[in-house]
Amino acid sequence: MSERFRDRLVTARSFTDEVLVHCPRCSGRAVLAAHASSPCRLVCSECGHTADFAPTVVSWPGNQGRSELCDPFDLGLRLHLQVPCCGEVLWAFNHAHVDFLESYVDASLRERYLPEPPAPPAYRMTMAAKLPAWIKRAKNRDHVLRALARLRAR
Ligand SMILES: [Zn+2]
Repeated sequence: MSERFRDRLVTARSFTDEVLVHCPRCSGRAVLAAHASSPCRLVCSECGHTADFAPTVVSWPGNQGRSELCDPFDLGLRLHLQVPCCGEVLWAFNHAHVDFLESYVDASLRERYLPEPPAPPAYRMTMAAKLPAWIKRAKNRDHVLRALARLRAR
């Protein structure tokens, strides 16, 4: 059993500085770097392709009309880290996100971090609170951990 998991108000935004996506040119692994106030830059380590995109609002990964989950900036770039799991799709923006999910799922005790004074409303919905129920279900734990190990190996 791992140490108790503390939900430190991690939000989706915490993991979107660098998002692993499929390169639109070679389908290899590319990094989409998004830093506030500068364009998103895509760099593919496999074919050297680079591209800049205008910054857009960070959102949950979308699949508007697409069969696979895409980047959170609605650029239509498929997430590199996604695997089928428990009839759903387990995904992560990057390896730090995989680590976060693993520490969450692996923890035997979970407790919500309640800030004092309370955080502004935009920050109350934490990453852990937003996780779908199937990831949190005890009976799925081993499946989810195996799927996370597969994501980590990518
Ligand atoms: Zn490429």
